[in-house]
Amino acid sequence: MPTTSTSRISSSSALAQCRGSRSTGDRLVPRTDPAIAFEPVEWGPAVVAGFTGRLAGVSGPPYNGNLATHVGDDAGRVDANRSALARALGARRIAFMRQVHGSTVAVVGGGPAPGDNPPEANSTEPEADALVTAEHGLALAVLVADCVPVLLADPVAGVVAAVHAGRKGVALDVVARAVATMRSLGAEPGRLRAVLGPSICGGCYPLGEPARSQVLAVAPAAAATARTGEPSVDLRVGLLARLAALGVAAELAGPCTAESARHFSYRRDPVTGRTAGLVMLR
Ligand SMILES: [Zn+2]
Repeated sequence: MPTTSTSRISSSSALAQCRGSRSTGDRLVPRTDPAIAFEPVEWGPAVVAGFTGRLAGVSGPPYNGNLATHVGDDAGRVDANRSALARALGARRIAFMRQVHGSTVAVVGGGPAPGDNPPEANSTEPEADALVTAEHGLALAVLVADCVPVLLADPVAGVVAAVHAGRKGVALDVVARAVATMRSLGAEPGRLRAVLGPSICGGCYPLGEPARSQVLAVAPAAAATARTGEPSVDLRVGLLARLAALGVAAELAGPCTAESARHFSYRRDPVTGRTAGLVMLR
């Protein structure tokens, strides 16, 4: 795939394999665990966050590093990848969700639950596209292969969220719903920080109508033109503006998945795995 300077917005560092040379100050990634690739996001002493890549893990091609159970990979190997990731994070457990391109926010783990908490919110994998928790040691995971993984945290309130924001999620304003749920648990926009992980860029994501207009109705900043010249959306740019409008400082970390061999891309490879964005209160 072609690359452009605009597609490499930040995070030029290579994904770290645990056996590699990366040494984070807080030892998020033990050198002795070769099983998973994890690129941490610096978030201070109270929050562990980052994004996985496809270079490691026990699954072979095309699933190397895959963390999803619904893409044709061997379930045992997915379990092994997930267990290795939990060890690397120092997490007691990782909460995954059954993502359906909706806007349901599920509060998981201990702590108070808001009134609109769905009934399945305390099951192992709730049907949702955003997870929120106030429980320490419980990592939240969002799985992606082009959609935008959005991690949020208010370390002072002790509330974190992982959001799955594809074109449907953006059109349904799932990030605003996640922020509202976090606020109901004590988070304040001025203290919240959001980090958007590796995801497809506007140059690689032509989108027809009416889907494009549905995105732009909520996130007009997402308007873009694909490298082919077709109308497209850049969900990442749209989400950065949407979060700013909500009063949340947001930034982008990671390349375009469709242009990165280190990431899964559903648009590029119809049979592919999923990487994860993860966030946890220490
Ligand atoms: Zn791209």
